[in-house]
Amino acid sequence: MGTKHSSINLSKSIELKALVSLAHFTTIKVGGQAEWFAEPKNLSELKLIIEWAAAKRIKCQIIGAGSNLLINDNQLNGVSICMRRFHGWNINKNTGFIEAYGGEPIPTLARKAAHAGLSGLEWAIGIPGTVGGAAVMNAGAQGGCTSERLISVRVLPIGGEEPYEISQKELEFDYRYSRLQEEKLIVLSARFRLEPGHDQEELTYLTNKNLHHRTSTQPYHLPNCGSVFRNPEPQKAGFLIEKLGLKGHRMGDAEISKIHANFIVNKGNASAKDIQKLIKLIQHQVQNAHGLTLHQEVKTLGFLKND
Ligand SMILES: Cc1cc2nc3c(=O)[nH]c(=O)nc-3n(C[C@H](O)[C@H](O)[C@H](O)COP(=O)(O)OP(=O)(O)OC[C@H]3O[C@@H](n4cnc5c(N)ncnc54)[C@H](O)[C@@H]3O)c2cc1C
Repeated sequence: MGTKHSSINLSKSIELKALVSLAHFTTIKVGGQAEWFAEPKNLSELKLIIEWAAAKRIKCQIIGAGSNLLINDNQLNGVSICMRRFHGWNINKNTGFIEAYGGEPIPTLARKAAHAGLSGLEWAIGIPGTVGGAAVMNAGAQGGCTSERLISVRVLPIGGEEPYEISQKELEFDYRYSRLQEEKLIVLSARFRLEPGHDQEELTYLTNKNLHHRTSTQPYHLPNCGSVFRNPEPQKAGFLIEKLGLKGHRMGDAEISKIHANFIVNKGNASAKDIQKLIKLIQHQVQNAHGLTLHQEVKTLGFLKND
């Protein structure tokens, strides 16, 4: 690998940093060092990074708010591009149209929509991700999900061509799934249509109520990466894991949450290996006891197929 520089300036405003700990960029506070790391603020900075990587023939991977992401402990090769600074939004309170950049936090957008009297994002307040991550994951909660209000996304292919638009229909949304999970595309922005003309106080009350419900039923007080498994519908992954008496089970500092069994929390210095071992243990026990395969919801970076 041999990364010799500590940083490279691609322009006056965008810097590629070498050997940055990715633990700071995931909500579970786990992850090794990125060989190269950058936080672009706009399309021209993003393009410079992609062109640099293409010229060096190294890969790029995208991080949003890192709230559904498990990054391995080893060095992650290539350029890790964090989209958190790629933020901004535009709300039209008369028509209900919203356009938000890929790095805009979804909870902030939910609050702004409520303030503008726009209904449709009240469920999103407790999801600590970005607009891009929500589109990729089709994030949802309390009966609502991203695909219901999304009109289209604007993407940049990691191959480096020009941005283009993909419509809601073409994204093939399903439960915690979109076509974006299969393709090397960066979500630059998303357009939503909400319902205008609602009572602002009522929406804010509902939004706060949803947040209170989430923080009292899920382990928000400890680092975690959201739901580890998709629900094998109509069953709930958390219920199946809890029935096996696994709440509180630990591997190093990684623990199956005592509050909600579909969450793994970091009690201090958990490693990705600890978390991966807990994931395998849960899958094995649920398979043996219930004959059901639990599929991971959380996305991974830096693992080999057989890890
Ligand atoms: C406490 C807690 C509660 C949660 N509750 C819920 C919940 O109720 N419902 C739910 O659905 N999820 C929940 N999550 C999971 C998570 O917040 C969502 O999946 C969220 O949408 C992920 O967004 P992110 O920006 O953090 O994406 P990341 O975790 O950073 O990335 C997820 C995937 O999206 C890709 N990605 C991210 N941004 C982009 C982009 N701009 N362009 C292309 N690819 C991108 C990444 O490469 C990765 O494959 C929770 C997480 C936590 C920590």
